[in-house]
Amino acid sequence: MKRLEGKTALITGAARGIGFEIAEVFAAEGACVAIGDLSHEEARTAAAAITAKTGAKAIAIGMDVSKEEDCETAVAETEKAFGKIDILVNNAGITRDNLVLRMKAADFEAVMDVNLKGAFLMAKAAAKPMLKARTGRIINISSVVGQAGQAGQANYSASKAGLIGLTKSLAREFAPRHVLVNAVAPGFIRTRMTEGLKDEAKLKISEMIPLGRMGEPAEVAKAALFLAGGDSAYITGQVLSVNGGLYM
Ligand code: NAP
Repeated sequence: MKRLEGKTALITGAARGIGFEIAEVFAAEGACVAIGDLSHEEARTAAAAITAKTGAKAIAIGMDVSKEEDCETAVAETEKAFGKIDILVNNAGITRDNLVLRMKAADFEAVMDVNLKGAFLMAKAAAKPMLKARTGRIINISSVVGQAGQAGQANYSASKAGLIGLTKSLAREFAPRHVLVNAVAPGFIRTRMTEGLKDEAKLKISEMIPLGRMGEPAEVAKAALFLAGGDSAYITGQVLSVNGGLYM
């Protein structure tokens, strides 16, 4: 039997990169998936590709996770299409890198709004039906940078560290209703977010990683699948690092 047979999942920022891979892996394991993304058109393309490849039902939702109304509508659209929401993956994320002295307050706020406030708003919207149903999974995509810090990414690392605190607090609050909340903390993964790095920087990063290479989106998706499925029923409030040993 497929691992997510009969389940429904809403994944934010899923038109590309890690989010797309998570949606595809979930669909391949039998879940109906809702692809939330800023661009409705790109989300539609992603949903169609997932259905063509896996045969699973997939819908597209144009949304901005930093807007409360969009988050509530996204949960409502998922419930309308699939009858319920079992799994939420807070994956949408942005960077606005700069050294602190050059970083504008607006760049700090923009990153916090999407990466941290967006996850809070989505969790709040999805928790209502999950708590009522007394079952559910919330998976927050944090980062190694939230665990270890990173020069040039004060805004991003603060948002990703904040996500870990949010994960633990939600886990405690929702545990009595069997809604499990965990985080995945990827290291350096090959997506659009990292493709801008110079070859020299990529080489340096690979040398710092005990496993000697950057990770693939599918390797993060498999960790999310574990946290979404039945094999993790006694795990909540945890951070699962997928980083090739970069941070231990
Ligand atoms: P990506 O390729 O840039 O994809 C991010 C997706 O999120 C894009 O489709 C983007 O839409 C969407 N998005 C951005 N802002 C949004 C908003 N306000 N509302 C809804 N959707 C929004 O990034 P990725 O590398 O796959 O990263 C996915 C997650 O993993 C992020 O949270 C990131 O911080 C985290 N992460 C990544 C790495 C890495 O090395 N790649 C490492 C650790 C953690 P547009 O294309 O329209 O902008």
